Amino acid sequence: MKIGVVKERAPNERRVALVPDALKSLIAAGAEILVEQGAGDGAAIPDRLYSDAGARIVARDELYADADVIARVQKPDGPDVQSLREGQVVVGLLQPLIDPQLMATLARNKVTAISLDAIPRTLSRAQSMDVLSSQANVGGYRAVLMGALEYGRYFPLLTTAAGTAKPANLLILGIGVAGLQAIATARRLGAIVKAYDVRSETKEQAESLGAQFIVLKSVTDASGAGGYARALTPEEQAAQQEELNGHIANMDVVITTAQVPGRRPPLLVTAKAVAGMKPGSVIVDMAASALGGNVELSKPDETVVTDNEVTILAPTNLPATMPAGASQFYARNMSTFLVHFMKDGAMNFDLTDEIQSATVITRDGEVVQEATKKLLQPAAPEATK
Ligand code: NAD
Repeated sequence: MKIGVVKERAPNERRVALVPDALKSLIAAGAEILVEQGAGDGAAIPDRLYSDAGARIVARDELYADADVIARVQKPDGPDVQSLREGQVVVGLLQPLIDPQLMATLARNKVTAISLDAIPRTLSRAQSMDVLSSQANVGGYRAVLMGALEYGRYFPLLTTAAGTAKPANLLILGIGVAGLQAIATARRLGAIVKAYDVRSETKEQAESLGAQFIVLKSVTDASGAGGYARALTPEEQAAQQEELNGHIANMDVVITTAQVPGRRPPLLVTAKAVAGMKPGSVIVDMAASALGGNVELSKPDETVVTDNEVTILAPTNLPATMPAGASQFYARNMSTFLVHFMKDGAMNFDLTDEIQSATVITRDGEVVQEATKKLLQPAAPEATK
């Protein structure tokens, strides 16, 4: 079986799906590896290192013609979709729930689509394949560094002959994988860290990393299924925003990471909250995307400076800003995942396996994954009155 590693073409995407270190286990399992020329350029991995690790460097056309499996980071764009041929398998962060139509197209073209973002995250044997966690971890780390660079003062307490710098006050909103890494990173830089989440189990996790957990009166607990949060009611959300305003006003840096599966991210930092902040404060909205973010005034991939001198950053692909480190984790997830599928040197499909049934989105010309299938069903006609 031949696994092909493509060069990512999405704007600002610098990660690569497999790094040389991750090839060993795939080759041992019987795979042959093809790498598109320059695939690792964005992550500072020259073709030579892939050849040294046993891969063959090929041109893009040859890769698509020869490979049985295409390994990638981002979902394929128009020309990539055209290049994928019948019987080929494509594996990556395909976002089937955000772009189900792409899955329908791949099914029509008889391409097997496998999406790493659909891995059942609470399954312990899938933890080493959990790309969402590995990349959120990178994101949390980078968000703090970005905030620190934008903030015009020190994070740590610093006593020098020229005077004393007070430590920065940092607030992390949303304490999932990214939020926990953000707390740890900000603490290492010496900031005073407060943190808040609607899932009460996060209190202990935040405190174990040295943050002070904020308890709100307006929302006691909003844990949902599978370890995720549930969406708040409009009343709960309004009360939460109002209560958070008082905390946000005292902060130098606020980092937001809150997400609710299948919904637009909750609005946590309103324009009113920003108006109450001190000049020079910084907000990093990690949840920002075309769907909206956690911060009312954030604009995806833009820097907004408000009239009261608060800087709001909204990076949409933080892992790609640390391409070598992020690719190393991604590749480890990817190789473990592919080896899980392989038997006797080939892909062995078994949809009774929990990991496979969750992640195989299209197969034999059909969309087979339930959640994606549901999104593609025509809406039921409205009952006639
Ligand atoms: P996520 O990206 O879905 O959300 C980030 C955080 O935002 C979550 O902690 C969520 O509770 C919080 N949030 C949502 N709405 C909020 C609101 N209105 N106000 C404040 N906070 C809000 O989360 P994630 O990082 O993907 O992790 C989600 C869960 O999955 C966690 O419980 C994590 O421990 C769990 N997880 C488990 C495993 C495992 O068991 N192997 C692996 C990965 C993640």
